[in-house]
Amino acid sequence: MATHVIVGGGLAGAKAAETLRAEGFDGRVVLIAAEAEVPYERPPLSKGYLLGSAEREKARVHDAGWYGEHDVELRTGVRATGLDAAGHTVALDTEEELGYDRLLLATGSSARRLSLPGADLDGVRYLRTLPDSDRLLADLAGGGRRVVVVGGGWIGLEVGAAARGYGNEVTVVEPQPTPLHAALGPDMGEVFAGLHREHGVDVRTGTGVRELRGAGGRVTSVLVDGDAEVPADLVVVGIGAVPNTELAEAAGLEVDRGIVTDAALRTSAPDVFAAGDVASSFHPLYGRHVRVEHWANALNGGPAAARSMLGQEVSYDRVPYFFTDQYDLGMECSGLGGPDDAVVCRGDVGAREFIAFWLSDGRVVAGMNVNVWDVTDPIQALIRSGARVPVERLTDPAVPLEDLAG
Ligand code: ADP
Repeated sequence: MATHVIVGGGLAGAKAAETLRAEGFDGRVVLIAAEAEVPYERPPLSKGYLLGSAEREKARVHDAGWYGEHDVELRTGVRATGLDAAGHTVALDTEEELGYDRLLLATGSSARRLSLPGADLDGVRYLRTLPDSDRLLADLAGGGRRVVVVGGGWIGLEVGAAARGYGNEVTVVEPQPTPLHAALGPDMGEVFAGLHREHGVDVRTGTGVRELRGAGGRVTSVLVDGDAEVPADLVVVGIGAVPNTELAEAAGLEVDRGIVTDAALRTSAPDVFAAGDVASSFHPLYGRHVRVEHWANALNGGPAAARSMLGQEVSYDRVPYFFTDQYDLGMECSGLGGPDDAVVCRGDVGAREFIAFWLSDGRVVAGMNVNVWDVTDPIQALIRSGARVPVERLTDPAVPLEDLAG
């Protein structure tokens, strides 16, 4: 009987297990999950669950009974510590050695840690796991606390919005000229800065953090550039994520800011595949390797890898997609924009109801709809088409999106 092993109990791993069974694989499926939790999705941790509007159990990929019912051996709280790609075995921290026919590495990423004096003080939080979200919820829900958010990225802004919603004082400290600067560029970054300022957040851009100060082992303030000291009862750090490539690196797989795969999600080692945050996969649409840390890439990449493990022909070419919710702003973004792309909009940017397009060489490479819904399909079709679209047509709300791809 063949054994397929999945290392990583996040969304990509759990969806891959589901697909192996859905595609009729009747061998052994083992899912190694370092966290003690049954696999869950992460978007609610900084959105609905943190806001108190979504139940904890709703975050589960499958209910706890699903794994047994589908004969998936879910090993929670177990970590893979070594990989012998030539011998086709994985070592576990339980001292077991597990042989595999095919292996999927879906080890995800970890929160980047702040490396500054005071970073180890109590009251300094990260948000990556369900227990992290539980703790943060307990910290924020009572309101009335002074919260300093380090990093104006997706995590920082979503946590900032949740913290304000509970009536906490919030300061966001971001070294770039705007929040989300690397992700969206200056103009769209400014939209988010304005949103948070309107909701009473002190958004300090172009400002680095120098030191966290404390008393009795607990953080009490954050020293920022310009020698200003911002009082803090709680510091939440959201400064990006690092892919968990250690296992692959130690095993000699090709790693380049992610586990390198081809478009079929095969790594450089035979019978070893990678998907989700940790994979840097050749993307047929872009003609280069891309590593995408968003939910949709785990949701779709895990199943694609599973099909590839079963010998099906797979070319994983999804247009990257993600979403955010902050206060009354909901947004979806498709594609990959770059810092040199021009950004044009249709709709009312001031009222935060618009679609922004990123243009490279006259072609739409990314599109973001803000408080405008049901447009992801035509935006993705437009990106996929590679069509050159005149800016007047892109920005004219009278021209149906469906007509833009030519
Ligand atoms: P996350 O998923 O943690 O939100 P993002 O990449 O969306 O990750 O955003 C990280 C943000 O943190 C970026 O805006 C980046 O400029 C900022 N940042 C990176 N390093 C630091 C740092 N040392 N101090 C403060 N902010 C930082």
